[in-house]
Amino acid sequence: MIIGLTGGIGSGKSTVAKAFAARGIGYVDADDVAREVVEPGEPALAIIAEHFGAGVLTASGALDRAALRAIIFESSKERKWLESVTHPRIRERIVERLEALARHSTYVLLVSPLLFESGQAALVERTLVVDVSIDTQRERTLRRDGVSPEQVEAILAAQLSRSERLTRADDVIDNDGSVDELKLQVEALDQHYRRLSNR
Ligand code: ADP
Repeated sequence: MIIGLTGGIGSGKSTVAKAFAARGIGYVDADDVAREVVEPGEPALAIIAEHFGAGVLTASGALDRAALRAIIFESSKERKWLESVTHPRIRERIVERLEALARHSTYVLLVSPLLFESGQAALVERTLVVDVSIDTQRERTLRRDGVSPEQVEAILAAQLSRSERLTRADDVIDNDGSVDELKLQVEALDQHYRRLSNR
């Protein structure tokens, strides 16, 4: 069984994933995979550099993310092209990772901020949303990332709204409380998921 774990920026996805991992449950982080598929030596990076030119590479040959962002911000056609190169590779690698983890884990988690937006929800049997109030989300993101309040607002505006996410959730963790309260909810869900996995 694959559970999709999602939530807005700073909602507590990583903290929840680690609490499941402490109970022996494996997880794949979709953001990590998205970074890996464009690392030096990956076919996708060569394809991207051939298409956009050496201007999207740094002096050491890595992807210049800021340069690429500037291009796709200007052109939805180029953004779509880029996604047609990266998305199938990200998906394939996520599936490989989940299958490898499933050999040693009763069930597995796919952690993805864009689970619903990216179509990755099609890979999972159930969805678990980490829910927090917007105030908590702002406060924790500002404290963690050292970004400006304006940047946080821009990210919040670009993400799915809290209510849209909740209507799509099979299960919800309320993370407005303490980390100990979060761990108790993870414990209860872990027991529930173990029963559902029939093992
Ligand atoms: P996400 O992965 O969804 O962006 P994180 O798990 O990194 O979110 O959590 C955002 C920040 O809030 C981190 O600095 C984390 O340590 C902190 N945090 C998460 N849950 C709680 C909580 N219940 N109480 C206080 N701080 C928390």
